[in-house]
Amino acid sequence: MSETPINLYSDTQTQPSPPMRQAMAEAPVGDEQRGEDPSVNRLCEMTAELLGKEAAVFMPSGTMCNQIAIHIHCRPGDEIIAHKSAHILNFEGGGTAAFSGAQIHGLAGDKGIFSIEDAQAAIRSKDRYNPVTRLIAIEQTANQGGGSVWPLEAVQALGALAARHGLAYHMDGARLLNAVVASATPAKAYAAPFDSLWVDLSKGLGCPVGAVLAGPTDFIEEAWRLKQRTGGAMRQAGIIAAAGIYALQHNVERLAEDHANARLLAEGLRNLPGITVDADAVETNIVFFDIAGTGMTAEAFCERLDQRGVILGGAGTRLRAVTHLDITRNDVERALDTIRDLVTEVAA
Ligand SMILES: *Cc1c(COP(=O)(O)O)cnc(C)c1O
Repeated sequence: MSETPINLYSDTQTQPSPPMRQAMAEAPVGDEQRGEDPSVNRLCEMTAELLGKEAAVFMPSGTMCNQIAIHIHCRPGDEIIAHKSAHILNFEGGGTAAFSGAQIHGLAGDKGIFSIEDAQAAIRSKDRYNPVTRLIAIEQTANQGGGSVWPLEAVQALGALAARHGLAYHMDGARLLNAVVASATPAKAYAAPFDSLWVDLSKGLGCPVGAVLAGPTDFIEEAWRLKQRTGGAMRQAGIIAAAGIYALQHNVERLAEDHANARLLAEGLRNLPGITVDADAVETNIVFFDIAGTGMTAEAFCERLDQRGVILGGAGTRLRAVTHLDITRNDVERALDTIRDLVTEVAA
């Protein structure tokens, strides 16, 4: 048995592979801030092409993509319609309020997906008492929803609703390519209705850093100004952009393996005492499961698994496991054995 822990904490835990590092080492570079880094420029062209948008800009993180897009779309006092579990609402340090003065109207809905009816009902009528509804934002895939895929028809219907009401439409596409692979739907089709969207390079695609924000040329010019203003403009960033180019060429189709591994994990967990999991709900690389039946807290469970070389994240009695390119089918089987041993001991 290997000594290396099986790290299912997140798909952010990937290490850049040797060929990715090689591509980084050999990247032609220049001054990114002046638009002179050939590798960054190439990554942006590839992403704009992939998403069917006019232009794209390389950013240090997905959070920065979200916050800059929100800042362009919204003014202070405006309201954003999003799912209540959204990253922009829960995991960005209150950035939407702090930087843009906008508030988020969090909607309910299964698996991180809200209905068109609920979105429509959340659009405020125009009167002096109401905040101005300005933006609808969705996550593809829905992270806290368990990596669920927004169906293309729902994406389009929500886009039509936004257009009818003159609202901007933004996709947090941290894991858009997982949705693309899982649903065999082109990225362009998902991207078409959006005024802005981005993909993360540092999640399942396996890069050490970076995200790319795409949209119309004037939107990207404004995003560049904000990137500059907030200190996100870089210099020889081609070193990291090269990892993104490598990932788009080599690490997209293989996301299917992560999805199969997540499914295997969920199906294995289904049979364990004290564990509740909706294995059929697993569409991509994220598995949520509940351990209330074991009598343990997530914290205690994770600590004991950690000692046995399996790393998970969780809160309350809800745990999250995420598969990625450093997790093999064998790792999943070993993780299942370890979890089985633990829950069997606890039950005895
Ligand atoms: C990880 C993540 C982000 C933030 O991306 P970073 O690159 O970590 O800043 C935003 N939205 C979702 C859904 C995410 O999973």
